[in-house]
Amino acid sequence: MNLHEYQGKEILDSFGVRIQRGIVAHNSKEAVDAAKQLTAETGTGWHVIKAQVHAGGRGKGGGVKLAKNLKEVEEIAGEIIGMQLITPQTSAEGKKVHQVLVAEDVYYPGDSETSEFYMSVLLNRATGRNMIMYSTEGGMDIEEVAEKTPHLIFNEEIDPATGLMPFQARKIAFNLGLSGMAFKEMTKFVTALYKAYSESDSSMFEINPVLKTSDDKIMAVDAKVTIDDNALFRRKKYAEMRDLREENAIEVEARAVGLNYVDLDGNVGCMVNGAGLAMATMDLIKMAGGEPANFLDVGGTADAKRVEEAFRIILKDDGVKAILINIFGGIVRCDRVAQGVVDAYRNMGDAMKVPIIVRLQGTNAELAKEIIDKSGLAVHSAVQFQEAADKVKEVLK
Ligand code: GDP
Ligand code: MN
Repeated sequence: MNLHEYQGKEILDSFGVRIQRGIVAHNSKEAVDAAKQLTAETGTGWHVIKAQVHAGGRGKGGGVKLAKNLKEVEEIAGEIIGMQLITPQTSAEGKKVHQVLVAEDVYYPGDSETSEFYMSVLLNRATGRNMIMYSTEGGMDIEEVAEKTPHLIFNEEIDPATGLMPFQARKIAFNLGLSGMAFKEMTKFVTALYKAYSESDSSMFEINPVLKTSDDKIMAVDAKVTIDDNALFRRKKYAEMRDLREENAIEVEARAVGLNYVDLDGNVGCMVNGAGLAMATMDLIKMAGGEPANFLDVGGTADAKRVEEAFRIILKDDGVKAILINIFGGIVRCDRVAQGVVDAYRNMGDAMKVPIIVRLQGTNAELAKEIIDKSGLAVHSAVQFQEAADKVKEVLK
């Protein structure tokens, strides 16, 4: 689950990580009030108005702007709230901005003593360990840094048995070229950041930029946080931060009925049991000249009710031209799944608008094929993988 910048900063703050202060506003008036309050609390004269959407690169898309007085705060907030923000990380139509973060200006103009770093904490799946990735090249696209100057990106792996060790925090501060007060501040920052990451059950914390001010404070100016969905049951406070407006509407509905669904751009909908088989099925569709419209793992039960729910979710995507059902009957018997498919199809009536190819393999596969072939419905059955691929090809024509 992804969070907004302001929510990520709230978590950081609660673990003692220094952040650029800010207040969320939903309209220009709230923005002006927020700016006044920030001035009272921090003494800041200028403010940055930052669009809150689940996408990075907001600065490039015009979603982060500096306001030098309250009139500008009002104008800029008015412009940004309600706009369709297009950034290098959004789709072509962009994302609607519902709220902004009014933040204190932490860059002192003309100040050459400030520097921006990049820092993230994430899981290295290759080693199964958390790592801190950091760079002196902050404030810009880390992908670009990785491509052009990969030697400027450092990794520090954390041993799960010991957690982050003090020498590692010092090594990071050293590699970032810091000394004196800034060095000390950076070790504190890194230590608190790692604690925030691990104790919130996150799978990613990306702070770009981490700012060193000319008076040697180290702070998070941005925050991109992903909490592990599997941990939300024990992180109620964070689970409540979910903003469904930022998420794919079909995926939200699928989650509500307990289906493991990921929306994709293609034309062939998939219904599969097991994640591995789902991946193989997507390959099969590609080989047949189609493009998968989704990833869908229906899990262990594939009865009529479940199949119907899955049909309805898949068909919400207008791009779907055919549906491929690929079920392995291990614990679940193929004939029961076949009956489920037939019943679900009948229940759907006119709502079923596309041809269906069913491949059932495993216990009672032949019997299942018979049930489907005899149903008289526009369902093509197959037992072999290749057969299924050929049928997908055929119906796409
Ligand atoms: P992103 O573009 O979505 O990554 O959003 P960021 O929060 O990283 O902001 C983009 C850029 O805005 C940063 O890299 C900074 O250069 C700039 N910025 C952020 N906060 C301030 C600030 O307080 N003052 C000034 N002058 N610039 C800021
Ligand atoms: Mn950023």
